[in-house]
Amino acid sequence: MFKKILVANRGEIALRIQRACRELGVRAVMVYSEADREAKYVKLAEEAVCIGPAPSGLSYLNMPAIISAAEVTDAEAIHPGYGFLAENADFAERVEKSGFQFIGPTPESIRIMGDKVSAKQAMIKAGVPCVPGSEGELPDDPVLIRRTAKAVGYPVIIKAAGGGGGRGMRVVHTEAALINAVQMTKAEAGAAFNNPAVYMEKFLQNPRHIEIQIMCDKHRNGVYLWERDCSMQRRHQKVIEEAPAPGIPRKLIEKIGERCIAACKKIGYRGAGTFEFLYENGEFYFIEMNTRVQVEHPVTEMITGVDIVKTQIMVAAGEKLPFAQRDVVPRGHAIECRVNAEDPYKFVPSPGRITMWHAPGGPGVRVDSHVYTNYFVPPNYDSMIGKIIVHGDTREQALARMRTALLETVVEGINTNIALHRELMVDAKFMDGGTNIHYLEEWLSHHKR
Ligand code: ADP
Repeated sequence: MFKKILVANRGEIALRIQRACRELGVRAVMVYSEADREAKYVKLAEEAVCIGPAPSGLSYLNMPAIISAAEVTDAEAIHPGYGFLAENADFAERVEKSGFQFIGPTPESIRIMGDKVSAKQAMIKAGVPCVPGSEGELPDDPVLIRRTAKAVGYPVIIKAAGGGGGRGMRVVHTEAALINAVQMTKAEAGAAFNNPAVYMEKFLQNPRHIEIQIMCDKHRNGVYLWERDCSMQRRHQKVIEEAPAPGIPRKLIEKIGERCIAACKKIGYRGAGTFEFLYENGEFYFIEMNTRVQVEHPVTEMITGVDIVKTQIMVAAGEKLPFAQRDVVPRGHAIECRVNAEDPYKFVPSPGRITMWHAPGGPGVRVDSHVYTNYFVPPNYDSMIGKIIVHGDTREQALARMRTALLETVVEGINTNIALHRELMVDAKFMDGGTNIHYLEEWLSHHKR
């Protein structure tokens, strides 16, 4: 096992990794920008290094600063968390070339999966079902683009090969709007992701977002940790996640889970990863793979008892997976609400000083958050300030626990989306389970304030 790991991230995931390190008896070096000096995990750190000013381009995305922080503190490995450099193949490569272990897959795996076009091609080869669409990148010729759309069938969605975070996508309903939409998405993708390549998929009308968590070691062992349902989304961004996915037969999940593990073996994948699918009429369609720990990993931890972050560190250190497929037996139901510093209905970010923070508790309640009373939420980063996760024997019990947890939660001084979560936890359709990816947007458009 490593003696020391550098945590190249901020916010709740930095704290999450620090906690995993403590349990493993590994020293965690925390890095922070000038805006994060007061963060809880920095105050709790045995060692912490300032890597630059507030803008992430100068700090959390600053590769030389992060690598020199690892050098001066004698860290052996770097955990990238999620976001920032977590899925940057060049960073993973530089980390390894500088003699550190990158806690994640190989740069090659990140590169293949980071380009959604090559990821889809790899999945087709490995026998994982994908959304019907263009064969690879769209050409420039409008005639060929129109022909592809006709063959796929409207509506279609134009997606950036390098896209992420719900950005770089455009739905097209008619041929008249097609070429303009392709050109606009290309231009945006070039500016935002430094890669103008786009591809086309059939736009599925009523799918659910179901994803499979996997974990592999360096000895060709791989296990799927079942699924999560992340269909409650706004602007293609997840708001509520749960596990298991209500109403999907276990046999279907087992089948797709086995496919994912077979694909991992084929590409020599190591570490944690997530296969994201759209699920419609009993069929799974692969959309992308995330080659890192995800925001919503706790719901899987709650139903399986597996510590995903600890396991990431153990397999990066060369250990064998401490469990086999048959050992991972899901129990009960877990739900996660993302707590964002924003107006609950207008979604305007609401950074600033938290004058009062009171976290919920009780059986089956977990709070992953780096904030505290008098903490200042900097305006420079993502608005998520924490996550409330609950576990129950049944989905009904988990819902009841989440309602109680949200009732107990107090955040003053800034706006949060807690009020939205409170309403959704008593919404009849959500309570039934199995809502599709458009449900939350539709609900919001009818919502009376
Ligand atoms: P990102 O990397 O930006 O998260 P994804 O490819 O994972 O992009 O897609 C994010 C979300 O966009 C999905 O969860 C789904 O809600 C929607 N989406 C993506 N592709 C399709 C599609 N072919 N049909 C319908 N919705 C889609």
